[in-house]
Amino acid sequence: MIDEKGFEKFIQILTENENTFTLSDRAFAAIAETYCLGKVILQFTAPVSIYTKNGDRKEEILFQAEDKIKEAPDYCKEFATGEGGTVVYLIYRVYGTAPFSEEEKRSLELITDVLFFHSGRWRLINHVKKLALTDGMTGLPNSGGFLTYVDTLLQKKELTKYNSYYFNLTRFSLINKRFGVKEADIIIDRYAGELKKFLVEGECAGRLGGDNFVALIFKERTEEFLKFLSGVKTYGMMGNQKVPLTISAVAGIYEIDESVTNCGMTIGESAMALNIAKHIAKKPYVFASEEIRERVIKEKQIASGFEEAIQKREFKAYYQPKVCIDTYEIVGAEALVRWEHEGKPVPPMEFIPILEQNGMVCELDFYILEQVCMDIREWLAKGIKPVRISVNLSRKHLADPHLSENIMQILNKYQLESKYIEVELTETVDEAETDLLINFRKKMKEHNIAMSIDDFGTGYSSLNMLRSFPVDVLKLDKTFIDSMGENDRIVLLNIIRMASELHMEVVAEGVETKQQMDYLREMECKIVQGFLFDRPMPKEAFEDKLKIGKYEMKAGA
Ligand code: C2E
Ligand code: CA
Ligand code: CA
Repeated sequence: MIDEKGFEKFIQILTENENTFTLSDRAFAAIAETYCLGKVILQFTAPVSIYTKNGDRKEEILFQAEDKIKEAPDYCKEFATGEGGTVVYLIYRVYGTAPFSEEEKRSLELITDVLFFHSGRWRLINHVKKLALTDGMTGLPNSGGFLTYVDTLLQKKELTKYNSYYFNLTRFSLINKRFGVKEADIIIDRYAGELKKFLVEGECAGRLGGDNFVALIFKERTEEFLKFLSGVKTYGMMGNQKVPLTISAVAGIYEIDESVTNCGMTIGESAMALNIAKHIAKKPYVFASEEIRERVIKEKQIASGFEEAIQKREFKAYYQPKVCIDTYEIVGAEALVRWEHEGKPVPPMEFIPILEQNGMVCELDFYILEQVCMDIREWLAKGIKPVRISVNLSRKHLADPHLSENIMQILNKYQLESKYIEVELTETVDEAETDLLINFRKKMKEHNIAMSIDDFGTGYSSLNMLRSFPVDVLKLDKTFIDSMGENDRIVLLNIIRMASELHMEVVAEGVETKQQMDYLREMECKIVQGFLFDRPMPKEAFEDKLKIGKYEMKAGA
């Protein structure tokens, strides 16, 4: 006969919380005397496990009263689990006691049924919990899993031992394109595998989706981890060929200190630093700091103040002359935006990168183009002979299928001939973007609008690209003349020569000294732009320059 009290107690203990394994010892102890229990063993097999890739097999002692037990169990019950595995309970009586009676066996059947039901429920709950906190692709924690771990460290006051990282794989879109999405996913999984290998006990890394990861790494391992992030060697499969790959990442780092008040800060602060690293500093990593925080606040103010500034007409086109190196005539000018905010002109580097991030720069560029067209129309009306004005266009425009139509619409609105306008775009690495650029170039050519490649020599475009994609003007980046070393001289000389063979104009930017101008003249560069002649100036000042049309020998003096 089953001891009702013991059985009740057994069930009561098992239902205390979900973890049957830690409770079973006490539960069996409650009925041990009634059944003369010596030992209870659980054998668990999951050949096709959903918990672990290669299945699972373990043996656990659920209860033990005596060291000395019989060789064979007195009672054995096997259950099939939903995952295609088995659970076996082996029950041993105290050494030297008689075997279980039939009645006792029937009771034990009930007891093991209950135990199996409870442990199944516990495994399921754990599995669901784990799924909710795990990234299915890599097996790393997801954001929830990561934050759960952060929380336990925060509770234990151990979080300050770590730095937290938010990192993003560099140019992973290229890997996606090259290997296809399916293999790229496997590459991410391989990368995650390397990441797991790097971690030591107590550290944690998670995947937030895509190629975005987070990590908590001990402070003393910062340098080591940055080295890891700078390049992980792995491979991708192309057909049956193994292609070696080195994957680097850009990271934001938050040095966790006592001021940390909530788990979210570990992700939030490092994400903010990553954003700066990627878009503004353009560095492999940036540490979150007060300065960065202020910067982000400023960014938000700029983004939110933009529309109002447009309404209030606070953006102004400034003009910087382009000058013929032989005659000192003004042969053109570049329009450069200034934000006249609270009486001071704000330089574009303080707001263009921010407006680029959210696409607002496109609106600004059109605003400046329109301003330039208005100014040229006004000069024509006053009888002042204008020069061709170049307008900077962000590469963000390239995605716009109506770009050239929109440009023409503005020119038409002011009834301007296309010879007065030139568009400046920077070089690009992206293949898809190159196609868009070539397409845009074609349309500009159809409309007779000149196009220049800005900051030439700083990007990645090769001279070869120019052969297949000739533009009207190359704007040589300032860095070319900053160092006038022998190698630079040869490169520069050949660029200028090639450009002239391809009938392209070359404009040297950032010319500050007479020495630089002489150097350029020697290389037969014809047009210069820089502080040597003038800084970018407001429309009225430039109008005065236009009236004269050339510089005196001041520059040569
Ligand atoms: P950028 O297109 O390369 O413009 C040339 C920059 O060099 C200008 O800076 C100009 O003031 C500066 N500069 C000219 N001569 C000299 C010199 O002799 N020495 C030195 N050190 N600098 C010189 P600015 O006006 O601050 O503009 C910075 C950048 O902001 C521009 O570089 C351009 O990329 C962007 N930008 C300016 N206006 C616009 C705009 O209307 N639209 C877009 N999308 N970008 C713009
Ligand atoms: Ca420019
Ligand atoms: Ca430039």
